[in-house]
Amino acid sequence: MEQRVPILVYHHVYPEGHPDLGVTSNTKATGIIGEAEFRRHLQYIDENGWNVVSTSHIVDHIEHGSPLPERAVALHFDNGWLDTYSGVRPILKEHGIVGGICYIISEPTAAASEGKPAGIQTTTEGYVLKPFLTWDHAKEMLDEGWEIGAHTATHPKLAEVHKASGDAGVLAEVGPPNETFERHLGFVPEHFAYPSGSRNERTDALLSPHYRSLRLWTFSVPPQWAYTTRSTSPKALECQNVDNTVPFEDFTRIFTEALGR
Ligand SMILES: [Zn+2]
Repeated sequence: MEQRVPILVYHHVYPEGHPDLGVTSNTKATGIIGEAEFRRHLQYIDENGWNVVSTSHIVDHIEHGSPLPERAVALHFDNGWLDTYSGVRPILKEHGIVGGICYIISEPTAAASEGKPAGIQTTTEGYVLKPFLTWDHAKEMLDEGWEIGAHTATHPKLAEVHKASGDAGVLAEVGPPNETFERHLGFVPEHFAYPSGSRNERTDALLSPHYRSLRLWTFSVPPQWAYTTRSTSPKALECQNVDNTVPFEDFTRIFTEALGR
């Protein structure tokens, strides 16, 4: 059996007592999890001998056969929320984990960097106006070994953008943000995550020349876990959405199923 690599996708990780932690659902992803549950996840990963690897490492494995450690797992944090910087970052440090990736949306990051609010439409929370991290935060994270990925300029569903505005509409979510990344961080991210997992063959074709990897996103009840392996296309990395709708037993199933148990 090919090695199955879980890619865990988190959105908000909130301290206990945060009012939004009361939001949960049986039918849709919330994108919210408490710090205690998040620490429990990291403890499980650690105690069961899983090794956090970077997304570049996984793509090297797919493209060139670079060996991964046994029991490799990746941690993805979508949207570039401020709580990824202020909450997740110190917790990963505590656990000695290096190599998480934060997929940033360029316009809200630019707005936050100027002290302005920005809102985005999300599948998990609907329209939200919440604090985003800034370019300086992103630089600090890069210095600490994080990867920064791209997640469009404004977080639209790209399949819908293509329907409404064609190729030009999709490319407007790629070119300008990449110029912004280059200007503020000095490089264009190699990895891209589809907002809400919305994609089609044409969006894949349009984005592929710009990024080494494209990551999917899905949600189902009960959770159906899908894995990235050596045979997975780097332009369709599989992942698992993890939030407070996922019972701990289902979380552990990600790992036991990855091992074929
Ligand atoms: Zn997103």
